[in-house]
Amino acid sequence: MRLLVVEDNKDLARQVAEALKTAGYAVDVAHDGEDGHFLGDSEPYDAIILDIGLPVLDGITVLSRWRKAGRMTPVLILTARDRWSEKVAGFDAGADDYLTKPFVIEELLARVRALLRRAAGNASNELTCGPLSLDVRGARATIDGAPLKLTALEYRLLAYLMHHQGKVVSRTELTEHLYDQDFDRDSNTIEVFVGRLRKKLGQDMIETVRGLGYRFSPPPRSGATEPTPHA
Ligand code: CA
Repeated sequence: MRLLVVEDNKDLARQVAEALKTAGYAVDVAHDGEDGHFLGDSEPYDAIILDIGLPVLDGITVLSRWRKAGRMTPVLILTARDRWSEKVAGFDAGADDYLTKPFVIEELLARVRALLRRAAGNASNELTCGPLSLDVRGARATIDGAPLKLTALEYRLLAYLMHHQGKVVSRTELTEHLYDQDFDRDSNTIEVFVGRLRKKLGQDMIETVRGLGYRFSPPPRSGATEPTPHA
């Protein structure tokens, strides 16, 4: 999952970005409304954290432009304390959630998890697929109850695939959602990470769909029969 943080307070932006990276996300940062608008308009983020008081272009304008252009990315706005009008303007412009400054980083992380969960249609922070289970709160995965050792990028890949179970996901889509802007994409290709993940998960959970990409689904159980559909 890849996130954008638009915040002109550089210390706060760095703090938020670090916490999000530690939690397993790829993160890009913009320090003014113009850069933020451009990135949100051109890169497919899974969620955006947007400060309202921004130089060059304010957060409400940025958000309104994204929404007018049809960008449906979940957006959490950061508002100043006691500015109820900012919250109202933010929601009217298309915000999905808000957080008032100053905030505790854990609350931001929880709200981001909730946004991503809702966007993917999941009710819980624990995603499962056959023997595999992923706890997005702790960025941990287990297989048949045993902890799975994953690098940051393998975790990110697995989390994205699990959020999009059963759907075909292209290599381009994975590249866009796993790597931040500064990442050296050429020497770290998706194929390599898929290969490593397959070694850890078993070969049959990540199916290669020729010419299209990958599909993540539970491994077929030997001897299992097709469930009878209810009328
Ligand atoms: Ca600000």
